[in-house]
Amino acid sequence: MSLETTEALVASSNVYTWEPPNRVIAARYGLDPADILRFDTNTSPAVLSYLPDALEGPWDPPLHEYPDSTYAELAEAAAAYVGAEPLEILVGCGADEVLDIIAKTHLAPGQRSVIPVPTYSMYAVLSGQREAEVVSVPRRPDHRLDVEAVITALPGAGVVWLCAPNNPTGTPESREDLLSILDAAAALPDGGPAVVVDEAYIEFHGTSLVDLRERYRALIVVRTMSKAFAMTGLRVGYCVASRAAIERLERVRPPGSLNTLSAKAAARALRAPEVAAANAAALAEEREWLAARLAEAGLPPTPSVTNFLLCHIGSPAEADGLNEALLRGGIVVRTFGPRSPLAGHLRFTVRNREQNERFLSIIEAWSAGRSA
Ligand code: PMP
Repeated sequence: MSLETTEALVASSNVYTWEPPNRVIAARYGLDPADILRFDTNTSPAVLSYLPDALEGPWDPPLHEYPDSTYAELAEAAAAYVGAEPLEILVGCGADEVLDIIAKTHLAPGQRSVIPVPTYSMYAVLSGQREAEVVSVPRRPDHRLDVEAVITALPGAGVVWLCAPNNPTGTPESREDLLSILDAAAALPDGGPAVVVDEAYIEFHGTSLVDLRERYRALIVVRTMSKAFAMTGLRVGYCVASRAAIERLERVRPPGSLNTLSAKAAARALRAPEVAAANAAALAEEREWLAARLAEAGLPPTPSVTNFLLCHIGSPAEADGLNEALLRGGIVVRTFGPRSPLAGHLRFTVRNREQNERFLSIIEAWSAGRSA
């Protein structure tokens, strides 16, 4: 059903909401904004804070001109990093812009958009903006994909959105499950929907599906510089797909949405991937330490392969109570609304040891109060 006015469309759209910014939290709780720690956005400690000059060579991007609209240097660096050709890469202002371009090129009003839930909420937001029909497919109780249910939902769909590893659960997707969905999509008479595999967290765990882009022309693998590469504020993402799939996406890509500095910095970081790999390895170790401490405090998290941990706290009121205690201590975590399938849960980003200790001291005090 197509909405008749732009007002109706905008009013009916889901809004993607972040937790409040530091300035707002500081004012609300009487804190110094500089003391607030973000445990909500799955970012990394600043491993690349020495950019731009440490990676290599001079740093003189021409800021009085527009960027090269083909972003050739970045596309080449991303292609070399994932083992593809530059024409198999589309770059965007964050993975979020890439996801937006996918929605614009693959979803028409009323068309089905298949989303295994819970997952990254932008997929539903972008689908709503296209006036697509969101078909939510619940995951199994252990958070694994319900492959049969996903396959049943595919006919007539424009996109199926898969997130591997999955945010916010932190769980890996099995390659076998993803292949079953790709095969089922490819077998549909109309060629099936675009199969988006969002690998935002792939550097933390798992084998990419990038190598399958020729075998499955509907496959679009999405990546970001915001997580293991620790370049969130630069806003750089990209996707990898067959040339034909990239050509379709390129038709709606704004020519200059990435700025020159970000594109250059990201290209350099992609040419030095050992920094991100070391960061991911260190955070994986830290995650296991943090998970063990949370379990000791009576909050065992869902086993995670990423840089964040999903914890079932208890009732929604208990999750709210812990969230309040954390906010009062200047710690911001990811919350889920009372109508979310994850009501009663909180999600915590793994940060460095000192920050994790500060976070845990509040958790442990809250937990001691709860059992007292
Ligand atoms: N995909 C997933 C699964 C994410 O978790 C995020 C960020 N939280 C994004 C995409 C967006 O990444 P970017 O910062 O590159 O826009």
